[in-house]
Amino acid sequence: MELTIGVQTAAYVFASILFILSLGGLSSQESAMRGVKYGIVGMLIAVIATVFGPNMVAGMTGQGYIIVAIVIASTIGIMLARKVEMTSMPQLVAILHSFVGLAAVLVGYGSYLSSIDPSNVIDLTGLDAEKIAEIGTEHTIHVVEVFIGIFIGAITFTGSIVAWGKLDGKIMSKPLNYPGKHAINVLLLIICVVLGVLFAGGLSVDGIDPMMALYIMTTIAGFIGIIMVMAIGGADMPVVVSMLNSYSGWAASAAGFMLGNDLLIVTGALVGSSGAILSIIMCEAMNRSFISVILGGFGEAAPSGEAAEIEGEVTALDHAAVVDLIKDAKTVVIVPGYGMAVAKAQYPVYEMVQDLKDMGKTVKFAIHPVAGRLPGHMNVLLAEANVPYDIVFEMDEINDELPDTDLVIVIGANDVVNPGAQDDPASPIYGMPVIEAWKAGTVVVMKRSMAVGYAGVQNPLFFKDNTEMLYGDAKDSVSKLLTHLKG
Ligand code: NDP
Repeated sequence: MELTIGVQTAAYVFASILFILSLGGLSSQESAMRGVKYGIVGMLIAVIATVFGPNMVAGMTGQGYIIVAIVIASTIGIMLARKVEMTSMPQLVAILHSFVGLAAVLVGYGSYLSSIDPSNVIDLTGLDAEKIAEIGTEHTIHVVEVFIGIFIGAITFTGSIVAWGKLDGKIMSKPLNYPGKHAINVLLLIICVVLGVLFAGGLSVDGIDPMMALYIMTTIAGFIGIIMVMAIGGADMPVVVSMLNSYSGWAASAAGFMLGNDLLIVTGALVGSSGAILSIIMCEAMNRSFISVILGGFGEAAPSGEAAEIEGEVTALDHAAVVDLIKDAKTVVIVPGYGMAVAKAQYPVYEMVQDLKDMGKTVKFAIHPVAGRLPGHMNVLLAEANVPYDIVFEMDEINDELPDTDLVIVIGANDVVNPGAQDDPASPIYGMPVIEAWKAGTVVVMKRSMAVGYAGVQNPLFFKDNTEMLYGDAKDSVSKLLTHLKG
């Protein structure tokens, strides 16, 4: 089967529209499922139109291999995605970003090597000066695309692998600080620009020919990706995830330029710009500067000192006593966090909410933008348990209500309810807006121990007079509360 160029172009336009509709759908929980379906159909059309399109079929013997590779890769992808736990999603996303980066690097090398292959070099004999100049300009544009594509791809590749390691706990989450960090970054960038000029000009200086310039730049860009993400502290990782998402889009777009594939350019630009917008939203949510993130100096924007000594005593209750508090409360706000995802407690939590509503209580959920390990993590978990959207509120929508709330139940959340973010300038999360749980009448915190959250800092909320701890696995604790409530 071979599609004509017209059919392929129409399919690309249609797929682009579906991708835009998909992004639009993903902007709200109600339409997210529809958005995902648009994306799947769009991608299917894109793959078919590319594999069976004229560029692919003409003179290509590898089409069969591509189809076999797609089938094998799709099977592996489906198996992995089905197996991966919801709590490991961020790591999966990070590693997928690294694949996009690696693909851009490989496409770049492939594209350059094929352009300098003697069988592809255009014979200029007999051409007029204008035509020769035109071919020269096209070649320069192509090599610049190759250089930039490989640069972005290599940063995305190594940066995403480090992000995967940090999210998976395999690499320390503390920011890596060393003297002259910014000077080193600037120096590396200047070297890459010089190498870019050598490469684009086809020049050889001191034994560095264009190919060698490309190898050196790839190594440096890979190193920049590593040090850039290593420099970012634990609590700031949400921005890194969305930023690498954006980089992977630009890497794909660059690959589109190198391959002359319009759909890849459009799709990459959509991912790149939506990732950048998400990064801005996350930066605002965390009160960080977007520019300093882009420049990789983000770790320094947050104070890295030790948090202040905490005063007060920690008190704990058993399940029966917590049920008494719940029964006395008229208004209840639940703050879920990463621990709820680990415990998979969302189902019993929603069952408890239904019981509380049946008892005539007003129950709401308060969601922090960076709760969990992925933007929207808590919303996804609550939607999975069929929690209605109209009782789920963003931090900004609910913080003003908390002083009039009788009881806040914190389920496996820690950093997102840390008052030190507001009143301890030495805290690593100082400046990050948080859910002001402590302003409620009483706070019950469900977690297994006094262990710190992802940012690695103790939480003064646990030491407040109006806070009671309920130790144990969140799912187990909520199930026990349910038994007491029903009993
Ligand atoms: P935290 O990581 O701050 O805290 C989670 C708490 O859950 C821990 O203190 C842990 O305490 C508890 N916990 C773990 N397992 C269980 C369990 N089975 N039952 C009950 N409790 C459990 O989570 P938050 O959601 O409050 O904050 C998210 C953090 O992750 C922020 O620092 C954010 O910046 C960061 N982050 C967010 C990303 C995002 O995109 N959302 C991406 C990357 C990082 P204990 O061990 O005592 O039970």
